Formats: sequence, structure tokens, C-alpha cells
Amino acid sequence: MTRYQHFLLAFLLGISILALGLGGIYLHARSNLEDLVSEKANIANALLQNTIDEAHTAVNRAIPLLDATCTPATATELKHIAVLSPNIRTVNLVKDQYIYCSSLIDHALTKNANTHIIVATRLFLTTHNYFNPNERILFLGEKVGEKYVIASIDVQYIKKTLKTIGQKVPLTITLNNQQSMTYTTYYPETKDGTLIALNSRDHEFVISSRISQKMYLDYMLSHLYIAMFLCSVLAVIIGVNGYRQFKRPRSLQEELRRGVEEKEFLPYLQPIVNAQGRICGAEILMRWRHPSQGFIMPDLFIPLAEDTGLINLMTTQVLSSVKSYLLQNHQYLPDGFHLAINISPGQCNNLLFYQDCVSFISAFPEGKVKLVAELTEREFIQDSGNAALLFEKLHHLGVQIALDDFGTGHSSLAYINQFNFDIIKIDKSFTHLIGSVDMPSHIVDNVVDLANRLNIDVVAEGVENTTQEAYLKQHKIQFFQGYLYDKPLPPAIFIEKMKQQSDLQTRLPADKPIEE
Ligand code: C2E
Ligand code: CA
Ligand code: CA
Repeated sequence: MTRYQHFLLAFLLGISILALGLGGIYLHARSNLEDLVSEKANIANALLQNTIDEAHTAVNRAIPLLDATCTPATATELKHIAVLSPNIRTVNLVKDQYIYCSSLIDHALTKNANTHIIVATRLFLTTHNYFNPNERILFLGEKVGEKYVIASIDVQYIKKTLKTIGQKVPLTITLNNQQSMTYTTYYPETKDGTLIALNSRDHEFVISSRISQKMYLDYMLSHLYIAMFLCSVLAVIIGVNGYRQFKRPRSLQEELRRGVEEKEFLPYLQPIVNAQGRICGAEILMRWRHPSQGFIMPDLFIPLAEDTGLINLMTTQVLSSVKSYLLQNHQYLPDGFHLAINISPGQCNNLLFYQDCVSFISAFPEGKVKLVAELTEREFIQDSGNAALLFEKLHHLGVQIALDDFGTGHSSLAYINQFNFDIIKIDKSFTHLIGSVDMPSHIVDNVVDLANRLNIDVVAEGVENTTQEAYLKQHKIQFFQGYLYDKPLPPAIFIEKMKQQSDLQTRLPADKPIEE
């Protein structure tokens, strides 16, 4: 799986946790808000019931006055009843659909349009010119024979009560004659949403409320934001942890693959110097910058990279990285700059390396960089047919082939001739013998002489001191590589060295490149 897929999987995990958590919080918010609205409806119900009971008491007290004519004494008595009943505005006597006596006026009223009133149900809402033409008034009426006592209830009081109790929750009072009043300031009235309805004791009215989606969401945001925040944090933690787990390699092979995907394999450049001590080339040596293990040397991962075939991709990556470094700084490189790259025998079985070389060489001006493929002598090339084809194509492209670790394998002259090597690299194990106390001089001499007799360029690797250098120079070796000159360097530092040398060289006569 790629890094992107790991990320996607972890992201989905995090999102699922978030969705589950928020879903749970939403359900919790629903049940909380419904409980709260039921509670508010209960309180409103009790208060309204109480007010209606008060009106009922007032009306009952006025019933005996129905028999008398409307004298100032009757009106005063009605006024007393109204004043003494909390939340009751007026108490009135009605006959033949006209108010004829009222607690508001101390004499009998005449029949006219203003005093006309129809009492159809016990509780009813109506506007009335006599009381207040601009607002509906809640009446409670009691019939005795053909007459009625009606009491008007303080609607302002009911309004305020509903507002105080409901606050942001819209509460509606519906009378049993279907007349209704709703008081809400915040949410518009809606026909959708969950209905919470509470019947009054005598089924005279219903207190109801509709809870819309917006109300649920608003409640969730304002009351459960801490839970939502914690849920988001948890989702992020689980997502990040999941990502770590997903991308954790299950084997060294997977770890290697991950490293390739993350482009953790970097090129280091070790200078190759000529007899005058000037840098005329470099060998690319791979390093693995592991996120937790630090830098890992190639001996530890190259064999597995070869077995898995990942070496092909890794070679492509390091070569392309070196290409961009050198392209940006090609003015500091001497013409015919020798750039060596190691290839494994397995890479001789396909043309991927050849394609890398084509892309590399075509990026530089002709003659600027001379690419060299180093092939170790330690392992024999299995399919010599494929290798010969590759070498031929590489030669045609101008890429040279070097036999690496010369002297350590079993290569015969026939082998060397078969593959038409252009360069031989004397292995560092021979270089290290030079100058040692028990130096078997004949072995070293033999290797060096054999290399010379092949009449191709020879590079001595592993040169660590001037004794070794002097000995090799004496034996006509022209090119050197080793800690005496420099260790493998990060490309930026290598370029810095080339820059210094280029500055110096503009003041000194030029010297011979490696192929001369
Ligand atoms: P090699 O091709 O023989 O590379 C030379 C090794 O000798 C390098 O080791 C280098 O750092 C080391 N060396 C250079 N000068 C001295 C010196 O003066 N003294 C001593 N003691 N050592 C010196 P390194 O970098 O650890 O590479 C080890 C091997 O890994 C290489 O041996 C090569 O076979 C392989 N390798 C490195 N990079 C690549 C690559 O990109 N592809 C392939 N296929 N193999 C690679
Ligand atoms: Ca090499
Ligand atoms: Ca070597």
C-alpha cells in the first residue's frame, strides 16, 4: 500500500470515529432537548391551568349577580371580584349575546355593536371592541340558563409566562375549539420536526411545541460543544495513530519498499582524483536516511534491494537526484567528468538502467559528463547474453563499464575481455596491504601489474595514506579514490569542493582528464 492509501485509510478511520461520536452526541442532544421541552410544556400547562382555575373561581362568584339588574352596586361587586382575582382583567354579565354589565363600568351597558359577544365554548379567544380591538383576548365563560358570566384573562400575563418559560423554545396553546396562540421570538413557527404535546387536566387546551432540526443542532452546539470537541480530538488521535500503524512496515522488505516510496535513499559522492591530486570524477554511493535508525550503510540493504528488485527503482532515484545537482552546477565540473554508479548483476537483465543512462546523458552538453557503470567482480553475471546486449547498448550511448573490486573475484582475462571493460578498480583490500608490515608484495604487485597490462584505465580505491598513493603512482596508476582525499560526501558539499577547485583552476594551468 502506498503512503497515500495509508493516509486515506487513516482518514476514513478518523472520519468514522468522528461520525459515530457526533451521531451519539446528536442523539443525546435530541433526548435532552425533548426532555427540556416537555418540562417547559409541563410548567406552562400548570401555570395556565392555574390561571383558568382563577377565572373559574371569579366567574362562579359572579354567577349570583346574574339575577340582579345591572346597578352601580352590581358593577362595583363585579369590579371587586375582578380586582381580587389575580390575572383576571374583567368580569362581565352577558344576556342575549350582549354584555349588559361589566366590572369596567359602573352602570348598565346598552345593546350595540361594541357590546355584542358570542360565547360558543367555555374557553375562547376573540378581539372585542369594548375591551381591546387590537388584540385577541382569552375568555372563560359559564352559562347559567340563557345568561353567561364571562371573565377576561390577562393575555399579556400569559404571553410573558410563555416567553419566560419557553425562552428559545416556541410554545403553542391550542384551545379545544382549535383556536391557538403561539409565542416565540427566536425560531419561526414550523410544521415539521418532532411534536411534543401536553393535554390539560380537563382537555380544554393543549400546550405543544415543534422541535426543528435547527433547534436540535443549535442545542448540540451550545450545550454539548465540549463533548463535540473531545470527540474531534479523539478522532484525530485515532486517525494519526491509525496512520502510524498502517504505515508501520511488517517486514524489512516492506520497510525497504516504504523507504523507496518516501525517497529516503540518497546519493553520496566520493571524489576520484587524478595523479595531480585534482578531482576529475566521483563515485555515487548510496545512503539510506532512515526516519528512526538514522543513516544506514549500503552493505546492510543493497543485498535485499537486489533480491527484491527494488535496486532498479533506487538506482533511478539516486541517479536522477545526482543529475539535478550536477545540472545546476555543471560549470564547476571539468569536461569529461567521470561519474561512476554501482550496478548489481541483476540489473543487467533488463534495460531499466539503460533508460536511466539515456535520461541522464541527454540532460548534459555533449562531453561534459562521462557516465561509468561499476559492476562488481565478486558476483558472476548469470545471463551473459543479456549483459552483453546491455553493455553494447551502453557503449553505444557512451557509457563506460568498470570492473569493480578487481582482484577479489575469480574473473579471468577471458571474462574481462568478454565484457569489454573500460576501467578496472583495484579493490581496497589490496590497497590496504600496501605499506603494511607483512605486505605480501608479490600479490599486490601482481594485481597492479595485471591491471596495467590490460591497458585500460585503472582506479585504485581505498587509498588512505601517502605511502599507498606513492606506491600506486610508482606502478603507473593514474586515478585514486579513498579517505586520503575525501570520504563519500553529501552532494551539496561535493559541489562546494568542485567550486573551490574550479576557482583555483582558473588561476592554474589545466590538467589531464581521466581518459587521457
Ligand atoms: P564499493 O563499490 O566497493 O564502494 C567502495 C566502498 O569503499 C564504499 O563503501 C566507500 O565508502 C568505501 N571507501 C571508500 N574509500 C575508502 C577508504 O579509504 N577506506 C575504506 N575503508 N573504505 C573506503 P560503502 O559506501 O559502504 O559502499 C559499500 C558497497 O555498497 C559498495 O562497495 C557497493 O558495492 C555497494 N553500493 C553502494 N552504493 C550502491 C549503489 O548505488 N548501487 C549498488 N548496486 N551498490 C551500491
Ligand atoms: Ca564501486
Ligand atoms: Ca570496491
